[in-house]
Formats: sequence, C-alpha cells, structure tokens
Amino acid sequence: MEKFDLVIVGAGFAGMYGLHKFREKGLRVRVFEAGTDVGGTWYWNRYPGARCDVPSIEYSFGFSDELEQEWDWPEVFSAQPDILKYANHVADRFGLREDIEFNSRVTEVRFVEEEGLWEIAIDQETRCRAKYCVMATGCLSVPNTPSLEGADSFEGQVLHTGRWPKEAVDLSKKQVGVIGTGSSGVQAIPELAKQSEHLFVYQRSPVYTVPANRKAMREEVQAEFRKNYRQIRELQQLNFGGVSNFRLTESVKRAVSKEKQTARPSKILELNEETLKQMIKEQGLGVLLSFTDVYSDMRANEIANQLFREEISSIVKKEAVASSLLPKDYGLGCKRQVLDRDYYETFNRSDVTLIDLEKTPIERISPKGIVTGDSEQSLDVIIYATGFDAMTGALLKSNIIGRQGKTLKEKWQFGPEAYLGLQIAGFPNLFTVTGPGSPSVLCNMLVAIEQHIDWIADCIGYLDANGFSSIEPTCAAEQDWIAHVNQVAEGTMYTAPSCNSWYLGANIPGKPRIFMPYVGGFPQYKSRCDAIVKNHYEGFVIS
Ligand code: FAD
Ligand code: NAP
Repeated sequence: MEKFDLVIVGAGFAGMYGLHKFREKGLRVRVFEAGTDVGGTWYWNRYPGARCDVPSIEYSFGFSDELEQEWDWPEVFSAQPDILKYANHVADRFGLREDIEFNSRVTEVRFVEEEGLWEIAIDQETRCRAKYCVMATGCLSVPNTPSLEGADSFEGQVLHTGRWPKEAVDLSKKQVGVIGTGSSGVQAIPELAKQSEHLFVYQRSPVYTVPANRKAMREEVQAEFRKNYRQIRELQQLNFGGVSNFRLTESVKRAVSKEKQTARPSKILELNEETLKQMIKEQGLGVLLSFTDVYSDMRANEIANQLFREEISSIVKKEAVASSLLPKDYGLGCKRQVLDRDYYETFNRSDVTLIDLEKTPIERISPKGIVTGDSEQSLDVIIYATGFDAMTGALLKSNIIGRQGKTLKEKWQFGPEAYLGLQIAGFPNLFTVTGPGSPSVLCNMLVAIEQHIDWIADCIGYLDANGFSSIEPTCAAEQDWIAHVNQVAEGTMYTAPSCNSWYLGANIPGKPRIFMPYVGGFPQYKSRCDAIVKNHYEGFVIS
C-alpha cells in the first residue's frame, strides 16, 4: 500500500493551496478529487449566471507575488468561467496536477490506531496511508436534491445548478422549470429566462436580493491594485469579513460623496423614513445592508424589510407577482445575502411564470412535468437550484472513522463538534479546512482558506521539528469553543427563531438545528488561533 506524508481530499482552492504549501514544506503529498479537474465550486457550478459576489481582487490567492502580478481580471466581480480559468492557471503555474488524482472519490478515511496512520479508500478499491489527512472537501460541495414524489418518473432532462454539465445545454424552444430561489436560482433565473422558450420559477421562500456591481475591470484600476496588493492583503486580515475595501487613489476625488456617506449615522434607527428613501434612490437598495442595527435590532430590521418590500413592489409590474416575491416571514440578515442582475425585472417578462409554492405546494413530479395543487405543468427540463448539504455534508459523506472505530457520523449526530473548525477530538492528525466553528462561509473564503492552510502547515512543521507524532484537541477545549461559537451567534438575525437557513442546517430534513459558522469575525478568530499556538497549542494534546 502506497504511503504519503499527507493526503488531501478535494482539489478546490483549499486543496490546491494546501498541495502547494505542504509540498513546499518538504512533505510527500497526494490529493484525491472526485471531479475531473481542479476548481471545486467553480468546476461544478457552471450554471448560466454563476459568478462571485466578492471582488476578484479580494477573491484571489495572496500567497504569491508573481501570481498576483501576472493575472488580469476582466470584471470587478468575476463570472464562473473566469474563476475556473484562474484555478487552471494556478494549477499549471505551480505544477499541481502531477500530485492530484482526479476522478477519485474518497469513500472512507479510517484511523489505523496501531500504526498512527490514516488509511484512505478511493472508490472503495484502492487504498493508501498517510500520517496526516487534510479534508479540503468544501462547505458547499454536496448538492441537495429534495426527495419529491415521482421525481424518478420524469421523462425530460434533469439538471442541478451545483452539478451543471460541461457540455453546452440547449434550452431554446424548451419549457423549463426551475425549483429554488436562493443565490444560485437568483443568478440563474434571468439567464434561463433569456435562453428558454418559457421559464416556470417554483418558489418556496421569497428572497431578499439586491443588485450586483457589474463593472468591467479598467486597466488603470487593475494596475493600481497590482501596485498595492501587499496592502490589500494586510487590510483583509483586519476586516471582519476578510475584504480589504481598498480605496483607489485615482477615484478619491470622485469618492467625496462616498465620504459623506461614511459620515452618516451607522444605525437605521437614527434616520427618518424620507432620508432613507432618498438614500435608496441615490445609492440603491444595497444601502439598507450597511446599517449595523439591521442585523441586531428587530425594530431596525423591520424598517429595512419594509423599505425593501416597497422598493420591489415598484419594480414588479403585476401586483400579485410582486406580493409573492416579497419575503414576509423572516428578515434581512437571516440568510446569506443574495446579489442579482435583473432578478425582479425578469418577472415582468411574458415568458416567465412564478409559481408560489406557499400557495400551491409541489404535490409530485409526473412523467411530463410538475404537479402543484391540481394543475400539471408540462416541462422539457427541470432544474434544481435547491442548494447544498452545507458545511458538514461532504465530511460526513467521506465516512471518517477515528479512534476506537468511532465514526464522525456518530460523533456529530447532534451537530458538528470541532475545535476552531480545524480539528476534531478523537480524530488525531486529521484537519478540516474551513470546518464548522470557523468563519468560513461568513468570510471571503480565499482568505479563510489561506489562513487555515498556513495554520495547519505551521502546526505540522512544529510537530515534525520537535519529534512529536500526533495532535488532537481535548474534548474540553472543543466544548468551550462550541459554547463560544453559540454565544456570539446568539441575538443575531442569523439565529432568530423565524430564520431557517442552511447556516442552521434548516434546509436538510432531519439535520440538527445548529448555527455552524463562527460569526465573531475573521480578525478575532485569527488572533485566537495565533494565541493558541503561542500558548503551546493550548487546548490540544500533543504526543
Ligand atoms: P470546494 O471548492 O467546494 O472544493 C471541494 C472539492 O472537494 C470539490 O471539488 C469536491 O469534488 C471535492 N470532494 C468533496 N468530497 C470529496 C471526496 N469524498 N472525495 C474526493 N473529492 C471530494 N465564497 C466566497 O467567498 N465568495 C463568493 O462569491 C462565493 N460564491 C460562491 C458561489 C457558488 C455558486 C458556490 C456554490 C459557492 C460560493 N462560494 C463563495 C463558496 C465557495 O465554495 C468557496 O469560495 C471556495 O470555492 C471553496 O473552496 P474549497 O476548496 O474549500 O471547496
Ligand atoms: P440555497 O440558498 O439553499 O437555496 C436553495 C433554494 O431551493 C431555496 O430557495 C429553497 O427554498 C429551495 N428549495 C430547497 N428545497 C426545496 C423544495 N423541496 N421545494 C421547493 N424549494 C426548495 O442554495 P443556493 O442558492 O445554491 O446557495 C447556497 C449558497 O452557495 C449561497 O448561500 C452562497 O453561500 C453560495 N452561492 C453564492 C453565490 C454568489 O453569488 N456568489 C451564488 C450561488 C451560491 P427555502 O428557502 O424555502 O428552503
């Protein structure tokens, strides 16, 4: 059986950077990836309209000056094909593919206690062993397809946004049904409407979405970013969500009015309705998201929700459609904020029909289409934009078995338990990248990924340099961290009783309702990780 120093599961941005970093440290590394190429999220989510909602200057690697200097982004917020091109460029530039096995799904990860090694099974056939195992399996990599009665009987084409085919999909002259109006659905719907003959949107919960920035990247702007990358990366480390908000010097003059904006009250409760309406008119709906009390004070939240509803009602022409599109049962800040391009305007098209599932739920899928209430809609294609088994899905699906044969499924039956989202008690030398209990999905993920990989690399360096063979957290440290994660989430809109988000596992039937990411902010989290190291890996058992 082949032996490595370290195995990585997954070749998204986390696995790619991990491979580069751990190889640099002199480790013999092998990566196993279920897909046929690198890119993870950006390899699988090829649906029309897919794009990043963090500026590409921020959502890019900061570990290599050369990489930063040689790469140009065509748009401020890049689309999926450009992000995938970037991933491929990184793979080529650092010679990553030679140590990645594609088409290789890890089906078991078992700790062999007598040997102190992890044994990794690929497609239930090949096995290899490694001292360290890094799960870079992604927070949003296991698509959720709801079990709807009769789904298998459908005779048309079935697609999922999270598993979009590489080959072109021809929707022209097709009656297309899309289920789901989260971030993926909202991005896809305006594009699907343009491509199909008629689009039927099956909406269970309406969404709060605000218009996305559509700017192309100007050459002089790219050049200025290039000059200031080090500062940008430093600022990212200090920002709650891992974004630098770097200001261009050449636009300082134009930004005078912006400076006035920053001088305005940071709380919505300090402004009157008229001023707020004027601000929405001038700065767009997104301005509502910039008030701090919207996320922590119910009264402030309801003011923002109400203004939002009024604005949408003015865009969507048919009153009944507008009314269905307005969220009523939960507030802004409960779910991951969605950004769109012409989402509400799309419902003014004559070839788009909204089906409000709150009024007429899906009864079943028939061989010909979707049955809601007592009417059947014939469809050629059904597209699931129904999200993911987030944060824990890919880890649990990998069948991880720790000390004394205890499975991760058993350990996490009441919710994920981990220390810093990096390690799990009972699973020595196994690391998770952006695991539950870390800022992960509440942060610019590339910043979160780099911090985790660097931390793991330093930790392994420390163990090897000092002749230690193993590290794992104590149960007490794990429990203390979970208590802290819960405590900081308490009282935020994320955990309001009316909120049912994937952050809470509420999108998957039977999943324990636990708020999974760390909401204390990236800087606070990072300084805690650093302090733990300084304190001789406080909370860990090193042997
Ligand atoms: P992934 O990219 O998910 O890669 C994990 C890889 O592991 C996958 O390729 C998967 O095939 C593989 N894998 C999993 N299990 C196994 C197994 N058992 N065996 C073998 N291989 C396995 N984040 C942001 O910060 N900003 C954004 O704007 C943003 N937009 C997003 C848009 C979409 C449509 C989605 C779905 C997510 C978005 N995210 C965004 C989150 C995104 O997932 C991260 O930014 C980042 O790409 C995650 O990288 P990763 O390597 O950790 O995981
Ligand atoms: P999602 O946010 O979980 O949305 C899934 C949608 O499917 C929801 O509207 C949900 O309705 C609906 N749904 C689920 N099961 C259903 C059922 N049985 N019947 C009817 N409707 C059902 O998933 P997502 O849109 O794929 O986004 C997931 C995350 O990926 C995002 O939050 C974000 O982090 C990331 N992402 C980011 C971007 C970006 O802009 N950068 C784009 C795409 C994805 P309910 O709300 O009622 O459950």
